[in-house]
Amino acid sequence: MSRKVLVLGEVRDGSLRNVSFEAIAAAKTIAEGGEVIGVIAGETVSALGAELVQYGADRVVVVEDEKLKQYTSDGYAQALLAVINQEKPEGLVLGHTALGKDLAPRIAGKLSSGLISDVIAVEAGGGNIVFTRPIYSGKAFEKKIVTDGLIFATVRPNNIATLAKDESRSGEVSSLSVEIINLRAIIKEVVRKTSEGVDLSEAKVVISGGRGVKSAEGFEPLKELAQVLGGAVGASRGACDADYCDYSLQIGQTGKVVTPDLYIACGISGAIQHLAGMSNSKVIVAINKDPEANIFKVADYGIVGDLFEVVPLLTEEFKKL
Ligand code: FAD
Repeated sequence: MSRKVLVLGEVRDGSLRNVSFEAIAAAKTIAEGGEVIGVIAGETVSALGAELVQYGADRVVVVEDEKLKQYTSDGYAQALLAVINQEKPEGLVLGHTALGKDLAPRIAGKLSSGLISDVIAVEAGGGNIVFTRPIYSGKAFEKKIVTDGLIFATVRPNNIATLAKDESRSGEVSSLSVEIINLRAIIKEVVRKTSEGVDLSEAKVVISGGRGVKSAEGFEPLKELAQVLGGAVGASRGACDADYCDYSLQIGQTGKVVTPDLYIACGISGAIQHLAGMSNSKVIVAINKDPEANIFKVADYGIVGDLFEVVPLLTEEFKKL
């Protein structure tokens, strides 16, 4: 059964976030040969439409308004609902990002629809679309199907492979005029706490430090390794609570959930709440002085040693590659 599926393209600093392309790949599976339509909201974003098409969207609808320059729940909900009203899709996919986590429940509420959030895999099988999502802080996985109504999901970044970019693909980029009214909040300025480096939730490599780094300066060797590998720096709550780094770096149950290709945990014991945020990483390397540390139970490679000796050695070796 072919379906029409909408995908919200998420824009940050003038570019589409990679999760938008992952959402298109998920939407292609849901569409089962039907049409995948990208939606982009913002002040001047129509130039980004072509990229959504190159990653697999059949066409793109753009809603432009100066009130959409910064994300607000009210403004984006009005824009997306207007496109939904025009297109009447059978499926809808957003990234499971801060934006998606805020917007998707609001849209689901307005449409009286269900929502399958934080999806890590989508398959078509036996006439159904089967969604897989982690539950109990990543200790188990559940599979869900939608039996009635809109198939609405948010997809966790870094889990669903994007389709190969095809620069020869072309598709219509049309614009929909929407009156954005009655905004209860207006964002005047965004001040980023961590503007440097790679976005943690989308990074392919994450170097994380725990209480074992012992100080804010102790993060310096980790930052250097992250820079050499083109990765981002993360942290345990232990390190954040000790004021060695900002809470925006916290990974875990009450922090960010990351699934990079490579996660290097340095001086992190491996508490269950930390594992909830990183145990689905593709390759996990743990560096810890304590051979009994719980982190070694989830690690693919374990190095028992002092992180202040091991991390600089790794950095030197990676620099040679
Ligand atoms: P520790 O447990 O103190 O471990 C430090 C490790 O460093 C030790 O294993 C030690 O052997 C090693 N070490 C010390 N020196 C060195 C060295 N020189 N070289 C190598 N290794 C060294 N935690 C999170 O991380 N994320 C969360 O989201 C989170 N949410 C929570 C929510 C709740 C409701 C609660 C109750 C707790 C939460 N926690 C969370 C806290 C969690 O339980 C742990 O306390 C925390 O993860 C411990 O951080 P840590 O591993 O850095 O510190």
